[in-house]
Amino acid sequence: MVWKVIEDLIVPKCSGKTLRVNKGQVFRVMEHEGKQVLDLTFLNAHNYKEHFAAEYSAMLNSIQKIGGYYRLSKLYSKPPYENVMLSVVDDKVGDGARGGERAGHFMMCHCSKRLIQHMGAPADTRTCSDNFADAFREIGLAQEDTYDETIFNVWMQSWITEDGAMNFAPPLAEKGEYIDFLAEMDVIAVCSVCPDGSSPCNNFEAKALRMQVLEPDDGTRSEAGL
Ligand SMILES: [Zn+2]
Repeated sequence: MVWKVIEDLIVPKCSGKTLRVNKGQVFRVMEHEGKQVLDLTFLNAHNYKEHFAAEYSAMLNSIQKIGGYYRLSKLYSKPPYENVMLSVVDDKVGDGARGGERAGHFMMCHCSKRLIQHMGAPADTRTCSDNFADAFREIGLAQEDTYDETIFNVWMQSWITEDGAMNFAPPLAEKGEYIDFLAEMDVIAVCSVCPDGSSPCNNFEAKALRMQVLEPDDGTRSEAGL
């Protein structure tokens, strides 16, 4: 597949960002330095009430045997909409080949002020919640207007232990590796480059990420290539 690059951004560490991705375009998230997670959600570009539902998507993917809490093939919006918003069309880190099925991603909450405080961080530590608030502001929304704290934690190596506790390990994604999301409708990608530098989640250092909006060079969607 030859891609035409519509947008190509280095999103700085510890920041939030929105990107418009039209139906048929691919949203690519790429490791800029390596071992950095992205907290990610999506809105319908024409109806901000319709947003991506991560846990609901994990359940639907699990039932269809096309993913679950550690990997998604289809990203659904919340009820009552229940539409496929995007499809994952290239995911070499999350395909289970490296580190096992649970090492790809995680459908779970993002970091917030209270969560960070319970982890022992100072009260003024920046969190994904702050990044999301900044990102939503770009499109004229407040965080509470349309929002779900359960998001797609891209490259987050996290899992639930037998006693129900959360566990974390550094991401396995290295510089230049990426995941591709094909937009099945016009969407706004709402992104938080997770600012946590105190835990394994970003390998103890907050870093930047690269994001691209792509479309096939002939301007048409290729089922075979994608
Ligand atoms: Zn975070």
